[in-house]
Amino acid sequence: MDKIAVTKPLMPSYEEFIDKIKPLWESKWLTNMGVYHKELEERLQDYLSVPYISLMVNGHMALELAIQLMGFPQGSEVITTPFTFISTTHAIIRCGLVPVFCDIKLDYTIDEAKIEALITDKTVAVLPVHVYGNICNVEEIQRIAQKNKLKVIYDAAHAFGETYKGYGIGNFGDVSVFSFHATKVYHTIEGGAASFSESEMYEKLYNLKNFGIRGEEIVADIGANAKMNEFSAIMGLCNLKDIAEGIKARKNRAEYYLDLLEECKHLRALKYDQEDVVYNYGYFPVYFYDSKHRDIVYEKLREKGIYARKYFYPLTSDAAYLNGKNDRLPLENARKAALSVLILPLYPELAYEDIERIVQLVKNLGI
Ligand SMILES: *Cc1c(COP(=O)(O)O)cnc(C)c1O
Repeated sequence: MDKIAVTKPLMPSYEEFIDKIKPLWESKWLTNMGVYHKELEERLQDYLSVPYISLMVNGHMALELAIQLMGFPQGSEVITTPFTFISTTHAIIRCGLVPVFCDIKLDYTIDEAKIEALITDKTVAVLPVHVYGNICNVEEIQRIAQKNKLKVIYDAAHAFGETYKGYGIGNFGDVSVFSFHATKVYHTIEGGAASFSESEMYEKLYNLKNFGIRGEEIVADIGANAKMNEFSAIMGLCNLKDIAEGIKARKNRAEYYLDLLEECKHLRALKYDQEDVVYNYGYFPVYFYDSKHRDIVYEKLREKGIYARKYFYPLTSDAAYLNGKNDRLPLENARKAALSVLILPLYPELAYEDIERIVQLVKNLGI
């Protein structure tokens, strides 16, 4: 039996991609904000319905540069979630700031009711994550940020193309960051982007992703190298054409999972039921009420060549160099989620018979 990974990337046909990259052998313009970089920025600005977008080499650098852009004093505190991919926390630390961890709600997003208790005179920003495409309470977070003069940076790596109340998700907060990694709903092989509404940010990020260099002789900022290359931009243009279909295929499969798991008493699946949210069906997480069941099912699936994943375990606040020392208040829900959630395979080509097989194993705890 073939192995089943937790995801499989969307791909254009080989011929289509080869055909699209042909002009690069003529132009020899392979990176440094070429024509495809420009075209993809325009197309994504439109697709995501955001005022401005800046393409990046990956989602992580988009996060780092979005944080750097804000110019916070070193040692400032950023309130964030520990229930995320390690990238979120690393971006904060690598920018010389201190992550302060806030607990999550049952929908896995940051518990906005617990943010204010964590604010000190060093707090400069909130960095929440739209986990599994569930959207944070953006209104309340905005209110708290405004009241306390904090910036809001959303890690929207899981929320590509989603909308809330009809607005593209990249419109919330001061900056939203997307990942276009091959394992995400939409990808450019490696890639990412930051979206924002202030036009000056475009120029600043343009500098930051290009060593801070502007023109040939001006160095405007202490930048990094985070430019998206032309091959990636072309992959992005190809995949953008097919993304609606890809999301539809994911939705059908997620709904099939939900139907088959409806009677299952020992777990709850993500229902994609937040009000006013249009989902991208990037992940299919199930939460086992008894965390021992999670680990049993994880192992049993592996024995059968089915690679479900424990996203996110361990909590980023428990990483070796932090080891819980930044936990100021209990992270009860986050801790439970880290021990109890399993992400089941979900991607556009996943066979319905495979879903039936996976559900059977999940329901019977691997027997
Ligand atoms: C994937 C991911 C990132 C990092 O994106 P890359 O493109 O892989 O650098 C950051 N945060 C979250 C929540 C992610 O899932």
